[in-house]
Order: sequence, then C-alpha cells, then structure tokens
Amino acid sequence: MNNDTTQRLNLLDFSTERLKQHFTDIGEKPFRAVQLIKWMHQASLDDFEGMTNLSKSLRQDLMQNAEIRVPEIVMEQQSSDGTIKWLLRLDDGNCIETVFIPESTRGTLCISSQVGCALDCTFCSTARQGFNRNLTVAEIIGQLWIAKKKLQPNPEDDRVVSNVVMMGMGEPLLNFNNVTDALSLMLDDNAYGLSKRRVTVSTSGVVPALDRLSDKMDVALAISLHAPNDALRDQLVPLNKKYPIKELLAACNRFLEKKASRERITMEYVLLDGVNDSDQHARDLVALLKDVPSKVNLIPFNPFPETRYRCSSNNRIHRFYDILFNAGQICMTRKTRGDDIDAACGQLAGKVNDKSRREVHFARIENVSK
Ligand code: SAH
Repeated sequence: MNNDTTQRLNLLDFSTERLKQHFTDIGEKPFRAVQLIKWMHQASLDDFEGMTNLSKSLRQDLMQNAEIRVPEIVMEQQSSDGTIKWLLRLDDGNCIETVFIPESTRGTLCISSQVGCALDCTFCSTARQGFNRNLTVAEIIGQLWIAKKKLQPNPEDDRVVSNVVMMGMGEPLLNFNNVTDALSLMLDDNAYGLSKRRVTVSTSGVVPALDRLSDKMDVALAISLHAPNDALRDQLVPLNKKYPIKELLAACNRFLEKKASRERITMEYVLLDGVNDSDQHARDLVALLKDVPSKVNLIPFNPFPETRYRCSSNNRIHRFYDILFNAGQICMTRKTRGDDIDAACGQLAGKVNDKSRREVHFARIENVSK
C-alpha cells in the first residue's frame, strides 16, 4: 500500500458501476473496472503490481494516481467463543469497530456506517458520543475487506464471512449513498458475492430512506422497534416522533412488496427492565405486528455506566418470548457473544478517541440474519 495519500484516488470508494463509469471517463474499457474489482475484493490485493491481466501502462497509471486503502487495524481481540473485534483507525484519527461472530453454519460481520450517531436512542451508548461524520464507501467496505483478508488468508478457501449486518455504530440509512454503494459491492459476484438474504440493514426507521432503499436494492431489513406504542417509542427512539410506528410499519410492508422473496422483516426489541418488558407490552407487540410479516429478535439489554436502564431478568425474557411464541409470532432471543473481550463493543473505540466516549455500545449480534 502506498503511504502518499495526497491526491490519490482510493479505488475502494467505487462501486462496480461507478468504477466502470470512471474508467469510461478516462478512456479505459469498462471491463477493466470489473477486473480491478475482482483483484481488490476477491483476491484482496491492495497493490497494482500483481494485477497481471491489466496492461502495464494501466498499472503504471494506477500506481501513480490511485491507491487501495483500508483503515488501519489498531487492535484485534479474540473471545474464547471465537468472536473477534477489530479496532480500526481512520485517516482523520477517528476509530471504529468491526465485530466478527462465528457460528457453526455461518460467520457474521457487524459493520459500522458512521462515526458516532445523531439519533440519540436513550438505551444506546453510541448516542452519547454524538454524531461525528459519515463513513466513506472505502471505510465501510474496508471493514469487510479487512475481515476477509484476516480470516481467509488463502483465497481458495470457502467464504468465511457469510453474513453482514449493518449494526455497528451509526444509522446506515442516514449515510444512504455510501452505504448502498458498499452494499452493492457486498452483493456483487465480482466482489464479495454475498446472498441478499444474508446482508442486513438495521435502521431506527428513517421512513423515506427505507422507500429509497427498496427502490434501489434487495437486502434483508431489521427495524429497531423496541416498543409497541408511540408514547414509549418516542422516549426510547426519538426518531419515532418524526416517523411514528404506523408510518414505519406501512413502510415495512411497502418494502416487502418490492422484494421478490417476501422475506420477513426482523424487528429488534431490546428488553429493558420495567420499561418495555411487561406481559401487556408483549401482547401489544403481537397485535401491532399481526399484519407485518416479521420475526422478533429479543435482545437482552447491555448495560453501560450511567445508563438509567437495566436488563430484564431471565424469567421476564422467557415469559415475554413465550407470549410472542404462543401467539404465533416468530421470535428468537439474541445470544450474548464475546463477553470476555467486551464485545459490547465501542468501548475500545472510545478508549482511543476520548474518555467520555468509553461506553459506546455495539450490539452483540446474532440470529439476525440467516
Ligand atoms: N442505527 C441502526 C443501527 C445501529 S445498531 C439501528 O438503530 O438499527 C442498533 C441495534 O443495537 C439496536 O437495534 C439494538 O438492537 C442494539 N443496541 C443498542 N444499544 C443496545 C444496548 N445497550 N443493549 C443491547 N442492544 C443494544
């Protein structure tokens, strides 16, 4: 990788379509862009020397004017259960985290979309660091590039990252263009070739962007619901005041109508002791979701210092689950992974950035996508 970053074009910032367009603009054939995408994303190359099917002159031109640049790994931690967390430093010194969660039949990578978050959900510690900036396409896809390279040094091996969830720091739909360009690379057979059912966008419910997303591409969707009525959801997810539950669920149904697979939408529900975890809340949730093809993902709250919330008891979680299950609502409880390395992440990013950001939360992700 070249260290002289000034003026160089980072080719990881381009979706395949955009790179084709760029190549056309500079008088190259579009298929060269596809060759380059394969070298960068399938073969994990970050220098141009080894791209043997490109002409020498094109390689020389790229060496002078372009680069393939990913964030720098500052720290890697592995849990006894196999969960791996990478702390990545961006060019401007900000840090983000990426978490890999291996299971017997799949490997899920949890990716960040922004530095910080503007949405101020009261149970989420990322909110406490406020919003810093959107990640670039290179910084988003770079997280997958790094995970693939670290986990799969031999490109002939089977795919290790089978699933991606946009559940790291930030609200992906508020960084729409960069996130969708990165998603298109995840889905592109010339890049990562992940199944559209295994790439999940998680959102607090930015309704207009949900419609734009379904117009643009087919991916799995998770909604951070967390409450069965507007009064409570207004408190937990303040964005609800702008896009209340009824509008959000209508957008979910519009989203499903545009999908060929009619795949169910995941409804995330963090269980907060005494706040949203009563029998009545569970029954209200069943009623609310009766016309939305959905699966509810119950998430034990991950506490952080100075939070006013506590995690519901195991009994309460089971009881809540049973009410949903017995009413015929598909549901599951998310397992906690990577405890011993603080995979309630964000903490590391906080340590590097600023002490007040220490308790930045990262959800522990599991059972969200297949
Ligand atoms: N902004 C997007 C993506 C961020 S990840 C969204 O809201 O969906 C969001 C997920 O992190 C939430 O749905 C929730 O499942 C999880 N989360 C946030 N704070 C949490 C906490 N303290 N404990 C457990 N899960 C939490």
